[in-house]
Amino acid sequence: MDQVLFDYTRQDAAGESCTAHAWAKVPAPLTPDQRVALKARAAALLKAHNAVLVAHYYVDGDLQDLAWETGGIVSDSLEMARFGRDHAAQTLVVAGVRFMGESAKILSPEKRVLMPDLDATCSLDLGCPADEFAAFCDAHPDRQVVVYANTSAAVKARADWMVTSSCALDIVADLHAKGEKILWAPDRHLGRYIQEQTGADMLMWNGACIVHDEFKGLELDLLREQHPDAMILVHPESPKSVVEKAHVVGSTSALIKAVVEGTAKEYIVATDNGILHRMRQLAPGKTLIEAPTAGNAASCKSCAHCPWMAMNALQGIIDCLETGQGEIEVAEPVRGQAAGCIERMLDFVAAHKLKAAGMKSGIGAA
Ligand code: SF4
Repeated sequence: MDQVLFDYTRQDAAGESCTAHAWAKVPAPLTPDQRVALKARAAALLKAHNAVLVAHYYVDGDLQDLAWETGGIVSDSLEMARFGRDHAAQTLVVAGVRFMGESAKILSPEKRVLMPDLDATCSLDLGCPADEFAAFCDAHPDRQVVVYANTSAAVKARADWMVTSSCALDIVADLHAKGEKILWAPDRHLGRYIQEQTGADMLMWNGACIVHDEFKGLELDLLREQHPDAMILVHPESPKSVVEKAHVVGSTSALIKAVVEGTAKEYIVATDNGILHRMRQLAPGKTLIEAPTAGNAASCKSCAHCPWMAMNALQGIIDCLETGQGEIEVAEPVRGQAAGCIERMLDFVAAHKLKAAGMKSGIGAA
């Protein structure tokens, strides 16, 4: 496939593009007093509802802090799924994008899963419609179907394996060693990276993350000249021209660990800039530089931030707990079918003790 299957800027029936719709729903910045008041209100509601907040590294820093302060977690999508499944709370509030809430519900059907805004989606999920994907699978029945976490429940229901960027390399390498051929979806950059690393026979879907797809290899070269000693950290959803310049290629957890454990003073970071909040907390003495997404003439030279992640807000946490709106439902039989590929991944990770494994660098991710 050599076409992008979904144009995220395409207008919908209301004349808005997906990304414009998302940015329009991103709340205005809060005053310091508003932040304190809303955080206190959200914390009280989490406690009153016996709920736990499960947040992704890309969401607003206040939500990340709220999660830690109330006994929840901030992590990558693999650990989010695992934490939500294993936690005793009967209500999970997932701050992230929709597929993360769906994964939580798939693994914990008896729990109530709430999200601040159900419109928070992902270009990878949007770009892989379940019916077209099923036809793709039907055309290649000899292949193991491996899908990235960033897909709908219906797509996962069609898959043999779900993977995250933390464990994708290990799982595909294992399948390849067993002589399996792979049908991979939806991220073409991550798929290419894994194919190059493993040599596996992989047939690719042609999706992309709108945030990572924007990083520019040429601009990174120019930035590198200004910071010759900086360590370059790259998420593998980025283009090849960026990945090939990296000192570390890995999941969000792996990139954070690289900053914490690295001996360099400066780090150029090619992933959503929401991750810098956690990096600054864990490595306060290090200098973090956002990788470029545009040239010098652009109004925003480094502006890697996901509009759907940005929709998550303190007020949304409060609203979903107060009203019960924003509840994730995944109907049977899709839920049960999708659970199989997620549990297979979790079992593989547990069996191979991948918690401390990484990608290019060997630096760990969970
Ligand atoms: S950052 Fe990219 S992969 Fe992550 S949710 Fe946003 S669009 Fe999807």
